[in-house]
Order: sequence, then structure tokens, then C-alpha cells
Amino acid sequence: MDLDAIVLGAGPAGLSTASALARRGGSVAVIDPAARAGGAVHTVKEDGWRVELGPNTLQLESKLDADLLGELGLAKEIQEADVRGAKRLIANEGHIHALTSNPRSILNSELLSWRGKFNLLLEVFQPRESIQGETVRSFAERRFGVEVADRLFDPMINGIHAGDPGRLVLEYAFPSLARLESDHRSILLGLWRSPSEPRKIVQFAGGLHRLTEAMVGQLPKGALHLQSTTTLIRRDSRGWNVAWRNALGEESGAHAKSLIITAPPWQWAHLACGEILKPVLHAAEIVEAPPVALVVRGYERGQVQHPLDAFGLLVPHSEGRKILGVLFPSSTFPNNTPDGSVQLACFIGGARNIALGRLDDDQLREVVDAELGDLLGVKGAPKKEWIARWPRAIPQYTHQHGRFLEALAATEALHSGLHFVGSFRGGISLMSTLRRGSELGSRLPRG
Ligand SMILES: Cc1cc2nc3c(=O)[nH]c(=O)nc-3n(C[C@H](O)[C@H](O)[C@H](O)COP(=O)(O)OP(=O)(O)OC[C@H]3O[C@@H](n4cnc5c(N)ncnc54)[C@H](O)[C@@H]3O)c2cc1C
Repeated sequence: MDLDAIVLGAGPAGLSTASALARRGGSVAVIDPAARAGGAVHTVKEDGWRVELGPNTLQLESKLDADLLGELGLAKEIQEADVRGAKRLIANEGHIHALTSNPRSILNSELLSWRGKFNLLLEVFQPRESIQGETVRSFAERRFGVEVADRLFDPMINGIHAGDPGRLVLEYAFPSLARLESDHRSILLGLWRSPSEPRKIVQFAGGLHRLTEAMVGQLPKGALHLQSTTTLIRRDSRGWNVAWRNALGEESGAHAKSLIITAPPWQWAHLACGEILKPVLHAAEIVEAPPVALVVRGYERGQVQHPLDAFGLLVPHSEGRKILGVLFPSSTFPNNTPDGSVQLACFIGGARNIALGRLDDDQLREVVDAELGDLLGVKGAPKKEWIARWPRAIPQYTHQHGRFLEALAATEALHSGLHFVGSFRGGISLMSTLRRGSELGSRLPRG
């Protein structure tokens, strides 16, 4: 069988690459050892509840992102978050503070002291500096002061990366902030001078799984090979020979011009690539991705004291709590929860709480009971509960990441037709992963 491309991994990166190629009439095979497509995207529907056990939402940064969803035939299914979704709650010293998308809300809230607010505003006078390998924590402190680093950046990193701001490197994790400093000297001035398109938090009426269904639906018939592992990958003068075996032990094979690796780096040693990935294997194996456990609960509205009038609550590390944060999915997209009930999604673990991310179910329940009781006034047993475990949740762009990126680029340069795409490179968010996959799929050679 001669194909245009073989894609390893049927997560968002692999499916967006393959579906973009298929939209151009390209031929492709997608191979994944999992029993279902979608990677981390995992929507569960049960008795009127729609629960996301992986990513909860997509963030559209521009019209191009909406256009991409349109190309997947999903334009009519996009749901924008309820207005409550614009509000974020942050815990600090036992109190909960609300911030909106309007930067002024930081100054109006009591999250920062007067000194903290003053230091934040002083940022416009800070000199430009370019510190190679600077961590997010040290950048935040240098430009905005310790309070902003502790009370704004820290909970944000907990919520987005499940990471440690003292170890994530700014230029990899938040390149747009690094660019604002280099282009405008001040981040605040840069944001004011070059306002970006308003960002939209969205979902689909049928849950994020619709994304997977739409991309799979665009693949040629028989292109998706689940429960299949590669048994041989070899390069020849025309491209790539790949063999794989399915769950029944049946062997298949194909030849393709391009080979796209979207499987997570810690799986690369098992791809049967021979010497091809050797230069990148060491760097790939040390990519950090700490465990995160997700406990989603359904309660009667009356069991929760807090109005839940926000997207969710973020918890800075300094609070000494055992959760990274709680999302309020029923406030952001009310149609996912039966009337009279609420849905809360608690995240536990991450780079600074690895042991917590590995607790067993009963231990997780204890943590969630205590934290939800304390923070949101939740009382009594939940009506519903789902627990998901992500043993290696989100790749951390730490100091080692630079070496990994270099090794990826060198390996691609060495082997024409080989490409790496996924949240391990160029951004961890779902939308940015889809964007990169689609961009690659739209330029792969055909015919
Ligand atoms: C708990 C959690 C919550 C998140 N929340 C959000 C959110 O709200 N918003 C957001 O924007 N992003 C969120 N993300 C990030 C988002 O899920 C990722 O950006 C996205 O899943 C990355 O897609 P991917 O294809 O690179 O990787 P993955 O989704 O991890 O998919 C990788 C695929 O590779 C497959 N694979 C593994 N081994 C092999 C092998 N040997 N051969 C072939 N294939 C293999 C896997 O089975 C999987 O299907 C969240 C992630 C997690 C874990």
C-alpha cells in the first residue's frame, strides 16, 4: 500500500494532521495502541451528565482558530462559555478573590496589597532584559514583584501546566510574554499597544469528543488503526516503510512519503524505529510530564454554599492545599449537567505534588471532600463521581526542553519526510496542538 503519510498517534495532533491531509485528498494511515481515538480528549455521557475527563475547553485566539473548527464541520456546534466563564477565582490566605478578563479587576480586587498593586504598575518603568533560560517565576518577580508572582502567576501555572513556575522556562512556556518584553520593553505597555483579538473559551454542544469524531470522520475509510502498535519503521530512498500489528495479532504494512510522530516522547523507544530516533531518544525520555488525577463530582445545587459564578477556582502552591484548582463546568456550559445539580472538576497532583497525583481512589476522595468542603462549602456525599488518571499529563517545558527541541530539529533535518508534532513542542494547549497539526497536514507532499 502506497500512502502520502503515516501518522503515529490518534490524539488531537495526529488527527488534525491526518484530517488536514485528507481534506486535500491525501491518503493516510493513523496508528495508535489505544482502544479509542482522541488521546487526552475524553468525554463521558451518563444519565444527563456530560463530563470531560481530559481537556475541558478550547481557547480560540483568533478567527483562524474558528475557521479551523469550521473546516472540521463544527462551526454550528461551537458553544461559547457563559458570561460567568469570564470570571476566575483565586484563593489567597483563606479568602477567595474574583478577577475578570478586564485587567482593572486586579486593581479593584483585594487579591494584591497596595504594595503589590504598586509594584505591578511599576512594571511599565522596568528596563528591558533578556535572560536566557529565565524561569517563569523569576520573570514574574523581576517584572511585577513577589506578590504578583505568588498570587497571579503561580495559580495560573498550577491551572494551565500543573507545573512549577520556578522550573518552567519563559521562552518555551510563554514565548509571547518573552516577545512582549523584547519588542516593547514593558509587558503592560506592549499589551496596551498591541491588543490581541478577544479570546473565546468554547466547547461543542456534544462535548469535546465531537472534535475527535469530526476529525476521524474526515479520514479515508479504513485509515484509522486503533489497538495497533508499530513493529518496524525503516527508511528507503522513496520514504518510509512501516509495519504494525493489531490486537488480534494481524500484521499490516504500508509505504509513505511522510512519517508523522505525534505519540508522546516517552513512548518513542517502543516505536521500533531502529537507529532513526537514536539522536533524540535520550532527550525524549527525560521530558517531564507529572501525574494529574481528575475527580469530577455532581452535587445537588443546595449542597454547595458558593454561588459558583465563575469558570473555576485556582489555588496557589503557597496556600498549602492539596488541589491545584476546581473547574465549575456546569456554570460555564450549563447544558452539561441536569437541572438542579452542579458539576465540579478537581485537579490534583502536578509537578509540585507528584505523590498526590498518584493517590488511590479512596485517598483522592478524602482530599476532595476536605478541600471542597473548606473552599466552596460543599456538604454531603456527591450524587455522581468520575475519577480519571493521567499518569503523564502535561509536558513541562523546563531547562531540558531546549536540548529536546534541538534534537527534534536535527533529527527532522537528517531524515526527510519525518515530522514531530504534539503538545510536547510549540505549546501545550489543545487549540495550539490542533493548529500545528493542521498546518503540517496542509503542506505535506501528495501524489
Ligand atoms: C487532564 C488534562 C486536562 C487538560 N485540559 C486542557 C484544557 O482544558 N484546554 C486545553 O487547551 N488543553 C488541555 N489539556 C492539554 C490537551 O489535552 C493537549 O494539548 C492535547 O491532548 C495534546 O494532543 P496530542 O495529540 O499532542 O497528545 P495526546 O492527547 O496525549 O495524544 C497522544 C496520542 O498518542 C498515542 N500513543 C501513545 N503511544 C503511542 C505509540 N507507541 N504509537 C502510536 N501512538 C501512541 C496515545 O494513545 C494518544 O492517542 C489537558 C490535558 C490533560 C492531560
